[in-house]
Amino acid sequence: MLWVAIIGLVMTVVAVAMAGRRALFLFRLATVGPPAPERIAYAKANVGAEVKAQLVEVFGQKKLLKWTASGVAHFFVMWAFFILLTVYIEAYGAIIQGAITGRPNFHIPLIGTWGVLGFLQDFIAVACLLGLVAFAVIRVKNSPKTLGRGSRFSGSHLGGAWLVLFMIFNIIWTLFLARGAAAANGNFPYSSGAFVSLPLGDALPQSALLEEIALLLHIGFMLVFLVIVVNSKHLHIFTAPLNVLFSRRPDAMGAAPELRVDGKTVDFEDEDLDPERLGRGKIGDTTWKGFLDFYSCTECGRCQSQCPAWNTDKPLSPKMLILDQRDHAFAVAPYLMAASNEHAGQDVLALLEKPLVGEDGVIHPDVLWSCTNCGACVEQCPVDIEHIDHILDMRRYQVMVESSFPSEAGVMVKNLENKGNPWGMSEMKRADWIEELDFEVELVEDKMPEGTEYLFWVGCAGALEDRAKKTTKAVAELLHIAGVKFAVLGPMEACTGDPARRLGMEYLFNMLAQQNIETLNEAGVKKIVATCPHCFNTLANEYPQLGGTYEVVHHTQLLSKLVDEGLLTPITPIEEKITYHDPCFLGRHNKVYSQPRDIMSKVPGVQTQEMHRHKDRGFCCGAGGARMWMEERIGKRINTERVDEALTTNPDTVSTACPFCMVMLGDAINEKKNNGEAKESLEVVDVAQLLIKSVKSPS
Ligand code: SF4
Ligand code: SF4
Repeated sequence: MLWVAIIGLVMTVVAVAMAGRRALFLFRLATVGPPAPERIAYAKANVGAEVKAQLVEVFGQKKLLKWTASGVAHFFVMWAFFILLTVYIEAYGAIIQGAITGRPNFHIPLIGTWGVLGFLQDFIAVACLLGLVAFAVIRVKNSPKTLGRGSRFSGSHLGGAWLVLFMIFNIIWTLFLARGAAAANGNFPYSSGAFVSLPLGDALPQSALLEEIALLLHIGFMLVFLVIVVNSKHLHIFTAPLNVLFSRRPDAMGAAPELRVDGKTVDFEDEDLDPERLGRGKIGDTTWKGFLDFYSCTECGRCQSQCPAWNTDKPLSPKMLILDQRDHAFAVAPYLMAASNEHAGQDVLALLEKPLVGEDGVIHPDVLWSCTNCGACVEQCPVDIEHIDHILDMRRYQVMVESSFPSEAGVMVKNLENKGNPWGMSEMKRADWIEELDFEVELVEDKMPEGTEYLFWVGCAGALEDRAKKTTKAVAELLHIAGVKFAVLGPMEACTGDPARRLGMEYLFNMLAQQNIETLNEAGVKKIVATCPHCFNTLANEYPQLGGTYEVVHHTQLLSKLVDEGLLTPITPIEEKITYHDPCFLGRHNKVYSQPRDIMSKVPGVQTQEMHRHKDRGFCCGAGGARMWMEERIGKRINTERVDEALTTNPDTVSTACPFCMVMLGDAINEKKNNGEAKESLEVVDVAQLLIKSVKSPS
């Protein structure tokens, strides 16, 4: 058996050296860019949360199991990697023991003859084989050749994926051959439990050579697989747990990431701040966390399949956004890592200096500006890739360094700068809606008025846009009826800065946020209720980054609580079939799914019907990510796509809980009405409007 041990160990040394060299290369490449100390600091400070994330996401495969068939298949294949490590301990033990004693009858100390382990090894190997069959069927059924753009694998490296499936298949059949041959020769450590290997041993002839060859094949295929893995998308086997460990908690949604230069949060007052280094302009500006994202992408396309931009024929695919950066990073890797490129040719320098975004850049501007920041990609990504963070950092560079962004958005920026709202209306108009009510609404002068509990953050749309004003008045009235004391800022309120931040104009966001935080802190505000999910998200999740910490609720959360407490009682029946549209910044970004639905379920007569894409798979209205302020020139309009879906439920009313969704869906519904594709009575309302209609007796 000595020759077997020699061949086995030589193969191992060669493969491990090749894999180690590649690992070193990947590490060096990932660390060429700026640091990301906040990721390490967070992981260190939240060990409990990180352990939970590893258990739930990596070992529990929570996200993947949402995709039932492929999730279950992946669960078994992944666990096969862990459990079959024991088989490899046995295989190496056998070749070494065979070389020393002439008999390869090694077993793992203490547990190595236990029938339960033998069973587990055979079971997971069989489950892995079935998983491979499932993967093959899924790949054939979802082939880009037949489904084109509709396939989630469109754009992925298909050959590499089939090669990996083939290699895992080879590992499994050689596993059974080696175990069966060992059983036939009396070298198998288990006398029970191994329900495949033991019968196989009965069927195979006694042959030392067969056992030796099978062992070498089994080890050999694993080693080739190891080398393939570190050179392919299957690198995620090693990097995904790290990516999960260092991802922004809880799920890289809610707050946008802070703008950092060299790992430090940008202070716009800092005189030493280099304005050319804001955001990401070249691949070399990517932090190691960005590279971990590149290395972790499995090319599964789940993100792409959910993306509203991709689904309406725009050029943005969140998967390709990651893969294109990764491919470029690998193309320039030697030069990025070189100490000096002094003698490099023009072509090399051009490649190195290639802009991340541009007509001739790595990412086309149409890709960058198509994103609505809806979070569908981040929500689905099984390895916690942070697409929105990539997009925002690239937008920041485009906007603040290159001054390059869709010209229509420039009007919004100017209005925010000059008037504190995206429409450029006078701040004095912010309190006009109050005059349309038949009760007093308290205005904050300097301080919150005595006895008030909540500051009602009305938001720019809620104060200035006619359709959204209806929600504002409904919420004010409901709070009044329930006896909740509240006040509003009126002209002292300015835009939270969300559209500026999502556009990439961090400086303007900072300015507006600081102004608002100063107002709120001086007024002594503790609790805020907001009707706009974008305001809600910014106040609750982003203002703490700048020192503004408040207890913030969305109006659907507060109203649902008031209904539960009996302070609001819906009595008037609304005999309508209603379908609810989840606003992305309320649902996916902040996980508020149940309260709007709870409110509707309490209104007598309401019949609700979910759209196919709802809750965490809800489909965007097209307004987020500052898209509300840009033209939608490519593909089908996202709001039309959403309304088409709503119409399949044949609703009397479409409900939502966001002023921007109201506008987007309302516009698409009006268009449908004009074309005769929707009934004249169809309208879009906020759930607060439904509630007030039912709480107030018909007059
Ligand atoms: S955030 Fe939404 S629009 Fe942007 S890439 Fe992800 S899925 Fe697409
Ligand atoms: S980014 Fe995530 S969801 Fe998208 S293809 Fe890669 S691994 Fe899959």
